[in-house]
Amino acid sequence: MPHTEYGQAEELLRQQWNLTGALERLPGENLNYRVATAEHGPLVLKISLEAHADIPLEEAMVDHLDAAGFPVPISIPAVSGARSVNATLPHGPSAARLQRHLPGTPWRDAEQTDALLRSIGRSLGTMHHALRSFQHPAAARTHGWDLAMAMRHHHAVDQFTSPHQRSILERCFQQHSAITMPGLAHCPHGMLHGDFNDENILVDQEKITGLLDFGDCLHGALIEDIAVTLAYALERSRGSLEQARPLIEGYEEIRALTDTEQSVLLPLAMMRLAIYILTDSTMRQSNPDGGMRNQHVDVAWQTLETCMALSPTAARTTLCAGCHLQPTPQPNYESVEQSRRSHISNALSLNFERPLHITRGQGQYLHADDGRPYLDLVNNVCHVGHCHPQVVDAIASQAAVLNTNTRYLHELLGAYAERLCSTMPDSLDTCFLVNSGSEANELALRLARAATGSNDVVVIDGAYHGHTANCIAMSPYKFNGPGGPGPSDWVHVVPSPDVYRGQYRDDDAGAAYALDVADQIGAICAKGRSIAGMFSEPILSCGGQIPLPKGYLPSSYEHVRRAGGVCIADEVQVGFGRLGTSFWGFQSHDVVPDIVVLGKPIGNGHPMGAVVTTRSVADAFDNGMEFFSTFGGNPVSCACGLAVLDVIEHEQLQDRALELGQHFKAGLERLQSNHQLIGDVRGQGLFLGIELVRDRTTLEPADQEASAVVNSMRDRGVLLSTDGPLHNVIKIKPPMVLTKDDVDMTLRHLDDVLQDLTPNPTASY
Ligand code: PMP
Repeated sequence: MPHTEYGQAEELLRQQWNLTGALERLPGENLNYRVATAEHGPLVLKISLEAHADIPLEEAMVDHLDAAGFPVPISIPAVSGARSVNATLPHGPSAARLQRHLPGTPWRDAEQTDALLRSIGRSLGTMHHALRSFQHPAAARTHGWDLAMAMRHHHAVDQFTSPHQRSILERCFQQHSAITMPGLAHCPHGMLHGDFNDENILVDQEKITGLLDFGDCLHGALIEDIAVTLAYALERSRGSLEQARPLIEGYEEIRALTDTEQSVLLPLAMMRLAIYILTDSTMRQSNPDGGMRNQHVDVAWQTLETCMALSPTAARTTLCAGCHLQPTPQPNYESVEQSRRSHISNALSLNFERPLHITRGQGQYLHADDGRPYLDLVNNVCHVGHCHPQVVDAIASQAAVLNTNTRYLHELLGAYAERLCSTMPDSLDTCFLVNSGSEANELALRLARAATGSNDVVVIDGAYHGHTANCIAMSPYKFNGPGGPGPSDWVHVVPSPDVYRGQYRDDDAGAAYALDVADQIGAICAKGRSIAGMFSEPILSCGGQIPLPKGYLPSSYEHVRRAGGVCIADEVQVGFGRLGTSFWGFQSHDVVPDIVVLGKPIGNGHPMGAVVTTRSVADAFDNGMEFFSTFGGNPVSCACGLAVLDVIEHEQLQDRALELGQHFKAGLERLQSNHQLIGDVRGQGLFLGIELVRDRTTLEPADQEASAVVNSMRDRGVLLSTDGPLHNVIKIKPPMVLTKDDVDMTLRHLDDVLQDLTPNPTASY
């Protein structure tokens, strides 16, 4: 084999095709040569650097398009009759083909006129149309540029040190995960060119003279192909959507884009640019001497930067202004805000300085009116994911058949009660179904009083148990807070068993705090009163995401029962597998309550609550006064509750909470070792808390910093909130369909946000 590159190529041509001619190297990552032959005129010798198994697919696609009249590079068979021959070149095994040379200039080198863009769009549309009848067993494949699999590049964001660049890339991935991935399944699919870029389209003025390089073809959503071409059009227009629009208009002349296709189009194009940047960076990392940084990368950054400045909704409106299908207009922000202000009490507050107008939810994401997705890390109501299709379907199907009260026999009532009780210890076998956590706690109070004949209750400082009059009276979080009336004589507060900033912080803290409960009960009895029970959450939620120390609940339960009271577990926030290690929070403490209160996640957003208790407590309550809740336990709620339990089980969400919770907590602890501001990381499963302090010795609460973190995270598309008596605890309690990828992204964002915040000793609070 001759040693020079040209010599090798000439030899190959002569041996395999029995042809000679002058060779000229063409640009591109493959070894492509233009060959001037006397017999066939100009041809292209195409040597793929890695011999790939998908050449038959590529060839079949080219033949199909050739037959349909498209200007594509059909192959000239070698002397052996083969379309592609294996060649062992010094750089390794290669595949060589000889293809028809097509006339024209690469789009990259042509002037980008509206007419040309329209013509490129049309040609992509007609190509998709022609490929509708194309089938090939190798078409279901993937490769590094497959946009449907873009999330596999996410980890590479770590390679970038600039927080600004990282936040641009994170936005692309977030859009991909929240908008594109759920949408793609609903988009028309077919054969894709796979890389319809500015080198692979040959043009003459506005005429398309050649479609090249089908090496990345695959089966997928057609919109992916359009997005690739759009990415290049946007690069040429430096992100101007108006200038790129004729491309979409041209495509629409052949096939109208669906609503979903329109909404994923720009996110996909941005993702393509991000993959380009990430692939370049990965290559550069593995080969630092690989030469000058590609100029294309700078253009890709600039283009992304411009695209980011527009909201997804505004971008879609501009890009798809010429489309047949136009989106239904959203009510405008100001009018929504105004009507709320006019008719809703100010006592109902809103999150964030400029509140979000949320228009839909899906999985772990909430979508705002401007189309921007937000990762929801605070909503433990939509436990199995916002609008989970199985739950939505259960509600809608039952609502279409029957929804009435529980004064008739209905199989779903018994089925649901039995299913709920089956998740509890055997003694907890009787259910009351109501409509909210407050209602459930209110009923739990009545049950406790009926079972004991006593009136008073013990609650933990900082607790919140609901908004009804009695629940407010049992919630120090409210009655001791702004506007609160202070304690009622029948409610007795014990200190929060907080091992981070409370009185006891050592290994015996659980028993020590339980003694506070005993002391309080002693004081109550000394006043001639008696207790009906103690309300406690298995991890304190509004009280500051505080896990109860080991031994606290067993000892407290003992003290309460010895005094004749019953033990009530408020599982409204932490139940249904959220803690990972057990389905119910109380099970993590090895106790069995007498009454369990359920709410929030029970209906995944459908208004439901429940009280589960022992038959003897329920019998004591059955004193002749009828219990009735108009809506509680209706067939729709039961169908919904059953669907929630099914999804938790089928999607193994408890195991997921355990695994992801450990990963999340470990990541937060790593952040704690780098950021002085993080005083404590605590919690379990997907119920975590980050306490911010200005000084790790004095524990001065960093409330303003906590709020700054929450606001910066919101700007980055992640919803968090603060809680705790000192407003310095960031709480994390997301829908349980969160992914590891979401967790890693959150940790990277938090790292960057905390970097900007140093403890501020002079801030007043
Ligand atoms: N208990 C706890 C622990 C809660 O967090 C809440 C609500 N935040 C309630 C009870 C009251 O539930 P609801 O708002 O459904 O009435």
